Amino acid sequence: PVVTRFAPSPTGFLHIGGARTALFNWLYARHFGGKVLLRIEDTDRKRSTQEAIDAILDGLDWLGLDFDGDTVFQFERAARHAEVAEKLLANGHAYKCFATPEDLEAMREEQRAAKKPLRYDGRWRDRDPAEAPEGAPFVIRLKTPQDGETVIDDAVQGRVTVKNVEIDDYVLLRGDGTPTYMLAVVVDDHDMGVTHIVRGDDHLNNAFRQLPIIRAMNALEGGWPDPIYAHIPLIHGNDGAKLSKRHGAMGVDAYRDELGILPDALFNYLLRLGWGHGDQEEFTREEAIAAFDLPGVGKSPSRFDMKKLLSMNGNYIRTADDAQLAELIAPRIGAAADVGLLTQAMPVLKTRARDLLELADGAAFLFKTRPLKLTEQAAALITPEARELLAGISARLTAEQDWTTAALEANLKAYAEDLGLGLGKLAQPLRAALTGQTTSPGIFDVLALLGQEESLARINALAL
Ligand code: GLU
Repeated sequence: PVVTRFAPSPTGFLHIGGARTALFNWLYARHFGGKVLLRIEDTDRKRSTQEAIDAILDGLDWLGLDFDGDTVFQFERAARHAEVAEKLLANGHAYKCFATPEDLEAMREEQRAAKKPLRYDGRWRDRDPAEAPEGAPFVIRLKTPQDGETVIDDAVQGRVTVKNVEIDDYVLLRGDGTPTYMLAVVVDDHDMGVTHIVRGDDHLNNAFRQLPIIRAMNALEGGWPDPIYAHIPLIHGNDGAKLSKRHGAMGVDAYRDELGILPDALFNYLLRLGWGHGDQEEFTREEAIAAFDLPGVGKSPSRFDMKKLLSMNGNYIRTADDAQLAELIAPRIGAAADVGLLTQAMPVLKTRARDLLELADGAAFLFKTRPLKLTEQAAALITPEARELLAGISARLTAEQDWTTAALEANLKAYAEDLGLGLGKLAQPLRAALTGQTTSPGIFDVLALLGQEESLARINALAL
């Protein structure tokens, strides 16, 4: 059975890279009918906050990623982590290190001077703990194998080999008895039954440090198989640089609230960010689950492309349910918004918008109160000639019995022809009068949606 997990550190929002890692874990488990678990890695007590935990849970929920079983909070499991460290110690796979901070600083100073890599030199590895002063503080370090090499057949990166001498005897349990991150991750993954570790490739180095714990425990008690690793390339900005806020490295909540992205669109965009399946761009959730696999994940960093996300979002808006879209944008428009009218207007509005902000902007004219405030550009269109035209339009539209887009179009086209004017000459001041803007949906749709009474009132307010 496949068991994956998403293990965010709640030190900030659920950023776009984390969301993609969560998505890939979720898809992989769903594809194989396995489980995807959630573990909050809250061992950094200073930087972990409840606010961040809530933001992560909220973001995952909004994206539609559900997790199996109870959420595991890493900090609560500290005693279990210590138990494993003690077991490794009791069986010769770990040892007590009594080096003081000053000792270690002096060691690093020497290494720096000799231009050697800074790493713990194993000074207590083979020493008798009895040599330490009575009651001296100590940490527990893993006795990592120093001969040979470790090979990982990563499901994304391929075969990666590291010489074991490069892995130092790092700390498992600190002087105060608290576990290190490296120990906690390994113990939790084992206890949660995780079979596949899918995470950012910034953790690839950690895998080489984590495996020796797994192998030592397996030697001691069995039942600690090597997990399958899949280290996915990080997301870069569209210029190839590390992703920063400027590129879109924001929390998932900002995509929802500030950019007006639909969850299905972000889901689909993240899916395609680093994973491919032929040249298919758009996937329903079902299709994504059916198609997702690890060989489809590319080895090179993917580039975050805001334009592509927005264009995908626009496609999702166009196929989304009108009433649902109306509900989503009503709060953005304000108290005057009427969900019924918005729903009715949606087929016209949604053909143009790339995000919910544009959609709300496009709908705003429906709920403006008279007298309309005109934008500067719109006001410039209301010339004396335009006022005369509006008066003529008003007369024709007052007599109109059939207030439909088609009839209104026929009416005003005939009028433009009578006057020997292009339709644009009529439409421009009319749009300004009806919407207060120079851009809007098609002018006949605008008239139809506003209704005869409101349209005439807006026109007459500016007509001569
Ligand atoms: N908590 C780690 C992070 O947020 C992930 C650890 C892991 O996936 O092994 O980067």
